[in-house]
Amino acid sequence: MHKINADLHCHSVVSDGTLTPEALAKRAHSNGVEIWSLTDHDELSGQQRAKVAAEELGMKYIPGVEISVSWCQDTIHIVGLGIDPNNAEILEGLYQTRNGRTNRAKAMSAQLEQVGIKGAYEGALKFVGNPKLISRTHFARFLVESGVCKNTNEVFANYLIEGKPGYVAHEWATLMDAVGWIKRAGGVAVIAHPGRYRFTPREMTALFDQFKDLGGEGIEVVTGSHRPAEYQIFAKVALEYGFMASRGSDFHDPKESYVDLGQLPDLPSQLRPVWSVFQ
Ligand code: AMP
Ligand code: MN
Ligand code: MN
Ligand code: MN
Repeated sequence: MHKINADLHCHSVVSDGTLTPEALAKRAHSNGVEIWSLTDHDELSGQQRAKVAAEELGMKYIPGVEISVSWCQDTIHIVGLGIDPNNAEILEGLYQTRNGRTNRAKAMSAQLEQVGIKGAYEGALKFVGNPKLISRTHFARFLVESGVCKNTNEVFANYLIEGKPGYVAHEWATLMDAVGWIKRAGGVAVIAHPGRYRFTPREMTALFDQFKDLGGEGIEVVTGSHRPAEYQIFAKVALEYGFMASRGSDFHDPKESYVDLGQLPDLPSQLRPVWSVFQ
């Protein structure tokens, strides 16, 4: 049986990716993607462009977003799929979530200055497509460009993370708000890249329980952020909790990203693909 090539997680210049929505659509299509979603961080302004470009190429488009959430003193990401991009409540919620990124970026820059790295805020801004969405990724690109680190992996091992220079904790959306906004905008909430979180097993269980209680319905199983062993771990979680499974590259940039659009392995069998809801 033909398995559908779905890629339901990636980023454009509207957040911290380096390609336009149109260029991403083209790239996804040439890589064989049949169902596609652009999931910029905390921002929906690329959705119309992505939809038009995808449909011109004959791909099915699912409106998407990746919401930053503060949970258990850490940051997690919740993807929303199939949302109405004109829904007033999610638009306002995302606006509030984005708010504060500029002040955070200035505080990050001040910290970097204390370890001898000057002009990081202005440097990061040069990489930003949408100034309201300045993120750690843009700082990482500046730190590579200025020769402080060889690549962005090296940046995220030595800077911008908790306990290292340039990390500023931030209050994002609550899990309840993020899942609620997505559901009330007609979408399906999906836990993004669960393998990336550094929680204890007990905390992970609490996350899945709370997410399910709030009406969350999906989990990323096959993502560019997971190693193959993690596909199996989160396939089990999906079955146990009755979550639908998602697949997405989390593509940001041709050079930076581990996995290109549409190039991941298929979902493990037995799982219910989240895109079955939209077919
Ligand atoms: P922010 O929303 O400003 O906290 O930035 C988060 C973004 O930084 C993520 O969406 C990723 O694109 C990037 N990022 C975070 N951790 C890593 C990592 N370990 N390696 C590569 N990129 C990362
Ligand atoms: Mn990102
Ligand atoms: Mn993420
Ligand atoms: Mn992402």
